[in-house]
Amino acid sequence: MNETTIRSFIRDVPDFPEPGIVFKDITPLLGDNGAFNEAIDAMIEPFRDSGVTKVVGVEARGFIFAAPIAVRLGAGFVPVRKPGKLPHDVHHQVYDLEYGTDRVEIHRDAATPDDNVLVVDDVLATGGTGRASTDLIRALGAHVVGFTVLAELAFLGGRERMGGVDVHAVVRYGAS
Ligand code: AMP
Repeated sequence: MNETTIRSFIRDVPDFPEPGIVFKDITPLLGDNGAFNEAIDAMIEPFRDSGVTKVVGVEARGFIFAAPIAVRLGAGFVPVRKPGKLPHDVHHQVYDLEYGTDRVEIHRDAATPDDNVLVVDDVLATGGTGRASTDLIRALGAHVVGFTVLAELAFLGGRERMGGVDVHAVVRYGAS
């Protein structure tokens, strides 16, 4: 299954969750075993031999991809979550939104300097979430191997905000 076929399983939903946003709906892909399986392989591909020990999933849709990627790479799974969801000691990172700020959290003991970490989300848009997540992992002293997503909205320039992290996207929309 090539990139064009995987792309055909991602549905555009205009004006969701608000006017002017074209939402990339991944549920058709998740509902098709072949497409989901191929997408997981394609997201892993550049990092297969990178010695990944932990796979970080970004709440919430990042979890869906990060868990099978962790199992396939023989690595552990670590959640990055919205504020107040993780029960143990957390490290947090604040990042800018179009209006205001948001915050992500990770358990302080979720990764160590011995870990090689692959960060996973469904969509890379402005890069705020991805940057905050990779900053969290670095704050724990772990090494960020890369950031992999199913889809990149390249016209939003998120890749440039990732601070030199190795970014991989299976499907890219528009030019950056
Ligand atoms: P950003 O921090 O701007 O890179 O946004 C990335 C996060 O927002 C990801 O966790 C995505 O799930 C979600 N997201 C942003 N824009 C879209 C979009 N157009 N379609 C689907 N998800 C999106």
